[in-house]
Amino acid sequence: VPTVAVVGRPNVGKSTLVNRILGRRAAVVQDEPGVTRDRIAYDAEWAGKQFSLVDTGGWDPDADGMAKSIAYQAELAMRTADVIVFVVDSRVGPTDADEAAVKILRSTQKPVVLVANKVDSERQESEVHDLWSLGLGEPFPISALHGRNSGDLLDKIVWAFPEVPTGKLKERGPRRIALVGRPNVGKSSLLNRIAGEDRAVVDNVAGTTVDPVDSLVEIDGEDWILVDTAGLRKRVKFASGTEYYAALRTEAAVEAAEVALVLLDASEPISEQDQRVLTQVVESGRALVLAFNKWDLVDEDRRYYLEKEIDRELGQVSWAPRVNVSALTGRAVEKVARSLRVALQGWGQRITTGELNQWISTLQAATPHPTRSGKAPKVIYATQAAAEPPRFILFTNAPFEKQYLKFIQRKLREDFGFPGTPIELVVKPRE
Ligand code: GDP
Repeated sequence: VPTVAVVGRPNVGKSTLVNRILGRRAAVVQDEPGVTRDRIAYDAEWAGKQFSLVDTGGWDPDADGMAKSIAYQAELAMRTADVIVFVVDSRVGPTDADEAAVKILRSTQKPVVLVANKVDSERQESEVHDLWSLGLGEPFPISALHGRNSGDLLDKIVWAFPEVPTGKLKERGPRRIALVGRPNVGKSSLLNRIAGEDRAVVDNVAGTTVDPVDSLVEIDGEDWILVDTAGLRKRVKFASGTEYYAALRTEAAVEAAEVALVLLDASEPISEQDQRVLTQVVESGRALVLAFNKWDLVDEDRRYYLEKEIDRELGQVSWAPRVNVSALTGRAVEKVARSLRVALQGWGQRITTGELNQWISTLQAATPHPTRSGKAPKVIYATQAAAEPPRFILFTNAPFEKQYLKFIQRKLREDFGFPGTPIELVVKPRE
């Protein structure tokens, strides 16, 4: 959903406006400027459109000067919001701090709505003309306290939302899989098991481009595109520099895919070469499913040791779904599709800004970051900046320790899942 950030000096009426938009007294209104609030993002709706409303007033200016603090707010809004609502007190007129924010806001491509607050009557509307000098276009006069013009303002805000690209709403074609793994783990065998020896390599799929090297296959009643399978079919094996070419080929296949199906040989120890393939996949940011092949060769003993090896060696991908298959017997091959779906779902998963901020403030209240020189570093605002793979930005008041980030990441997975996908956490400490 689009994010709307409300920016402005303390006491211009940001929280009152946020309350007005939410239609309830959810945001805490403070009389003294500069009081930090934990929860600053809310899920809101107007004219049937959902959006996330962010009250940046929580950004405490106690440490810095007012102008610096508001400049930071503006920057934060520019980076994370789709629409910026810049609130000015019409009774005071533009101040130096307002000018500082405007300087930054002018450089953004994003729509900025200039709101002149505290216009409680029509007579006062003439006073807003001063605000034209800010260079943000026409000031929109409202009274957040009395609700004057607030409906019109909301119309203006939701009209400014970026168009959802229609292509994204269209159903996608078949999802793209890269079948990778070190030589001899059984890639060609599995491909043949899934696709059959003589299935056409190139198919015409509506709305999707299929490369001549790709195959359209059906697994568990669903169409999938297996990328770069020509090499597997032709059993291209290089005499020298095998690993180098294999790595290049893996990279190309993974880049062209959405999800990597990494095949390992369950009958043999997990090797360094397996690890290198896995690292390649994790670094590519694609979804990942692990398939242990040659399961027909696995007896009780081997199974016991394999589980130990997995615990010991595969920590970097402990979040990946796992299937035990046999290309030889066809065991559990249809289960591969289910795991691929799970991984793709985790890869594309999104948490709303409101939900995320609520979650993180609860988490921090229960388990705060270890204090450093008497203060606990804190996430002030968090947002999921991207999906496929999920990427989170944490705006903090100080640098974070690796351990605590790992903790947040672990909790994210515990509470929201994100199976089959790497997660990226980016920390942006102020200054
Ligand atoms: P690739 O290099 O990864 O494509 O591996 P191949 O498909 O060429 O397989 C390597 C060897 O493992 C061949 O001798 C296959 O017959 C054998 N193989 C592949 N899958 C299985 C399996 O599920 N069980 C057993 N026992 N052997 C397999």
